[in-house]
Amino acid sequence: MKYIGAHVSAAGGVQNTPIAAHEIGAKAFALFTGSSNRWVSKEPTTATIDDFKRNCEKFGYTPDVILPHDNFLINLGSPDEKKLALSRKSFYDEMHRAELLGLKLLNFHPGSHLNQMPEDECLNLIAESINITLDKTSGVTAVLESTAGQGSNLGWRFEHLAHIIDKVEDKNRIGVCVDTCHSHSAGYDLFSPEGYNKTWQEFDDIIGSQYLKAMHLNDNMRTLGSHIDRHASIGDGSLGREFFIRLVNDPRFDNMPLILETPNPDIWEEEIKWLYDSIQPDNNIQPNK
Ligand SMILES: [Zn+2]
Ligand SMILES: [Zn+2]
Repeated sequence: MKYIGAHVSAAGGVQNTPIAAHEIGAKAFALFTGSSNRWVSKEPTTATIDDFKRNCEKFGYTPDVILPHDNFLINLGSPDEKKLALSRKSFYDEMHRAELLGLKLLNFHPGSHLNQMPEDECLNLIAESINITLDKTSGVTAVLESTAGQGSNLGWRFEHLAHIIDKVEDKNRIGVCVDTCHSHSAGYDLFSPEGYNKTWQEFDDIIGSQYLKAMHLNDNMRTLGSHIDRHASIGDGSLGREFFIRLVNDPRFDNMPLILETPNPDIWEEEIKWLYDSIQPDNNIQPNK
């Protein structure tokens, strides 16, 4: 079963996100549980938490298909001591809010060395930040997002993600979200059928398919290996519709949130419908192994 949705707006409060998701025909959704560009956000009140849970239940969203995204200021591998401390505090808050809302996943970008630290030291620091937070919280899995490798951002090579996972103590609470635009820009060919197969084989060999917890479904406005992070609407980029048809018919991506972060929210409903319509009803497409 495919759970396809989008990163919906939390305007008016997080309790409205399941409603917004339902309105566009989503079977999964992503959200910010606080401000996306501030260090500190308010904790949801008991009334908000109750409303959120009630709306999720009403529209059939279980915590397994809801993927909160943390704020964009957090850098869990920051070479700057003050920024690292702020990041760790803010990341704890993000995870705590997810916990309060009864959620199970928290998606985030691994971190950046800002050209002030060797890569492996930065990866170790990121893992340490995750360990600190997992120790103080429960029930929520930290989900590393694959990046495009723009600037000094880490997490674009599968080896980076494997390195972090290796250093995380609680292996049950660490996972990966592959952003299709980012990984294609990072140099993983998802466009050609051969490249597609090779990429997922590499994911399994280097990281392990059991760690894949979610996907961001974005087409790519730039090209393979460009290291530039520019999402395109489905079919409007260098990945193209055939890639998405292959993906929604691939059982490896069953039972996890598949989230659109495409640039035009006005057509999310159409994109979701097209993706569902692209699933072969007889399910006789074999996984590409
Ligand atoms: Zn992201
Ligand atoms: Zn993404």
